[in-house]
Amino acid sequence: MTSFTIRTAARCEMIDITGRIAEEVRKSGIKDGICHLFIPHTTAAITINENADPDVPRDILTALDRLIPLSDHYRHAEGNAAAHIKASLFGTSQTVFIEDGRLVLGTWQSLFFCEFDGPRTRKALVRLTEDS
Ligand code: ZN
Repeated sequence: MTSFTIRTAARCEMIDITGRIAEEVRKSGIKDGICHLFIPHTTAAITINENADPDVPRDILTALDRLIPLSDHYRHAEGNAAAHIKASLFGTSQTVFIEDGRLVLGTWQSLFFCEFDGPRTRKALVRLTEDS
């Protein structure tokens, strides 16, 4: 397993980490296999969506804020209940196939690290499994 650090700059932010994951795949030398990604946080997540148009992640974050307002009489005393809810909706893991040493993603797909309670220093875990 490998990991890398992600420094976020805003309370809510979607950061394209496809290049960093592709680099891990390249370094591993694995041609065919599976890439498992895990985010070890309770107020951050990972998702796959479009990065060709930067308005797509912006719209996702705006819609999320509408669905899950920052304050809404939550009981969680830490004050970041909205971030916990958003993280659970998106989830903490993704799996992507590796073929010919490359991540198998659709034309418009990118892997996004989702910060919901930043800015913070975060971590992403990567486990690459080679086909036997
Ligand atoms: Zn909390």
